[in-house]
Amino acid sequence: MWTKGRKSSLPKRTVNLAGYDAKLGTGSSPTSGGDTGLPPASIYYCGRTFPDKKSCRCWNCPFPFVCGPKSGCPCAECVELLGFRVNSAGDLGKPGGSLGDGGDTAMTPQNLFYCGKWKMACRCGTCDGQCGPLSGCPCHACVELVGFRVNRDGVLCRKEGEMWYCGKKRKGKCGCGEDCGEKCGGSGPRGNGCPCEACSNIGQPIEEKLVDLTTTESESRQMAGLVKKFLIATY
Ligand SMILES: [Zn+2]
Ligand SMILES: [Zn+2]
Ligand SMILES: [Zn+2]
Ligand SMILES: [Zn+2]
Ligand SMILES: [Zn+2]
Ligand SMILES: [Zn+2]
Repeated sequence: MWTKGRKSSLPKRTVNLAGYDAKLGTGSSPTSGGDTGLPPASIYYCGRTFPDKKSCRCWNCPFPFVCGPKSGCPCAECVELLGFRVNSAGDLGKPGGSLGDGGDTAMTPQNLFYCGKWKMACRCGTCDGQCGPLSGCPCHACVELVGFRVNRDGVLCRKEGEMWYCGKKRKGKCGCGEDCGEKCGGSGPRGNGCPCEACSNIGQPIEEKLVDLTTTESESRQMAGLVKKFLIATY
């Protein structure tokens, strides 16, 4: 993380997170750096060509997309060199500033990422619906960038060990048979209890896949899927 220096001290060349050499672009117009809003001279580009249309996030880069100053958008790995991130929806997330309260995350906006899209994904009840620091809650895709998840009830979840917990009072009694707490709690100070139903369905692609093994799909394909899912799950 020490590479995240100030703009003025950016080295001319570096290596991006995919291991490719990246160098600063040229040109000073803030409109030519794709969706970053930065001039190419302060953006790193690795020069790789991407065959998919999604790699450009501004919709203006020429196709096929090349991570370079002539295109505009830096690729997802190069954009991380600037302290930005690309979320799972394919949108650029930028860190918030000193204003705002971080919504339901209890984190300061400086430590969160926001894509600026109108996603109506507020979970605290007081945001205006834009994923931005003044609004508060980052959208679901942006909040994943800092290690949270949102369960199917639309509640923010934290990971403890291998489990996800939302901390909300469970709807019915827990089915575990033990005398576990009334909240979806985990082992923290907020109580002791199994994950609620919505939370227990997060982050367990392996078990979901195992259920699928009863279908007629060939075993080798299933295993390949399993291994891939497992790699993603443990990443
Ligand atoms: Zn790149
Ligand atoms: Zn673009
Ligand atoms: Zn967002
Ligand atoms: Zn909110
Ligand atoms: Zn829960
Ligand atoms: Zn329980």
